[in-house]
Amino acid sequence: MTDLSALKARISCRDVLTHKGIHHPAKGNAPCPICGHGTSTPCFGIYGNGQRYKCFSCNSVGDPISLYQALFKCDFKQALAALKVRAGL
Ligand SMILES: [Zn+2]
Repeated sequence: MTDLSALKARISCRDVLTHKGIHHPAKGNAPCPICGHGTSTPCFGIYGNGQRYKCFSCNSVGDPISLYQALFKCDFKQALAALKVRAGL
């Protein structure tokens, strides 16, 4: 198992949101934590067993690592390192 697949097995998009202090409902969409839209019509959803997200307002799509990058304003390497620590890898 590669580092990346081990990480993805342990960290979901929801975990990244929780880490940022954002609650995502168990079902349905929420306001987008990236563009800030969707407070009246929630536009941000998590799919694929927590491994994918999509915002229908700003069209952001990705996985937990790119979500971490967007929320914490860092590059891929920094996101990977931070999530590895968080996942205990
Ligand atoms: Zn958005």
